[in-house]
Amino acid sequence: MIKIVEVGPRDGLQNEKTILTTDDKFQFISMLSESGLSSIEVTSFVKPTSIPQMGDAIELFSKVQRDLGHKKISFPCLVPNLQGYITARDLGVKEIALFSATSDSFTKKNVNATVDETFERMKEVVELAKKENVLIRGYISTAFGCPYEGKMDISKLLKISEKFFNLGVYEISIGDTIGVAVPNQVRSYIKELKTNFPINKMAMHFHDTRGMALTNILVSLEEGVTTFDSSAGGLGGCPYAKGATGNVATEDVWYLMQSLGLETGISIDKLAAASKFILDKVNRNTESKFLRAYLNTGKV
Ligand code: MG
Repeated sequence: MIKIVEVGPRDGLQNEKTILTTDDKFQFISMLSESGLSSIEVTSFVKPTSIPQMGDAIELFSKVQRDLGHKKISFPCLVPNLQGYITARDLGVKEIALFSATSDSFTKKNVNATVDETFERMKEVVELAKKENVLIRGYISTAFGCPYEGKMDISKLLKISEKFFNLGVYEISIGDTIGVAVPNQVRSYIKELKTNFPINKMAMHFHDTRGMALTNILVSLEEGVTTFDSSAGGLGGCPYAKGATGNVATEDVWYLMQSLGLETGISIDKLAAASKFILDKVNRNTESKFLRAYLNTGKV
């Protein structure tokens, strides 16, 4: 069984210029929740001024909790700090995602802290979350390459993975933030990672910026990874390459798995309907070649 973590509502929409209403975002999540996905990242509890698209986190998560909370689906949310954590857990958030990266230049530009400082900041959140039985997922940005520092060495990824596992995360999500990873690099990094950490606690988060996402996913599968992050319709872009593709599309991942005979539990017509709905709202076409063909022909 392959697990897909749907990041469209958060990672995807965060990188879309059109600011959507809470109702539209909720409708999207509700449609996604019909598709068989077992994990849907909802939002980010950042300061509303810092990321306007995430400004309605309280309202949106409340709706999700009220109307979809009974489903057997995880609805993780990003929390950047203790204040965000407290707001989230008061609303009933049961799983949080924490962020760091392998590059100091990247974290300094994004959150004005070195990588080590991002872990300092997480400590109080982690302590409380563990006490309150809230699951923690660790995101590692720039695992393969950084927009400022270029190619990232495996030693950095190993160090940050260890830091996250020492905190007590149940899984790390290894992010190719700018979509520069290539198959040989992915294979060698995973080989190195799995000699140090359990492979079933690693998820891969690929971007299709340079068209390598599915190939990198195939290599990851061959190395034993079974969890992948993706966004419905390929929602989102790449803030470091204007106009370029961001997250790999969930439909493309679905099609690859289906072609290999691997079960995802996802119903493609429901997923495609959710993607179509949200792509119309942000007024753009999908980046997914499979979805384009599927929407045009109605056939897999
Ligand atoms: Mg992403």
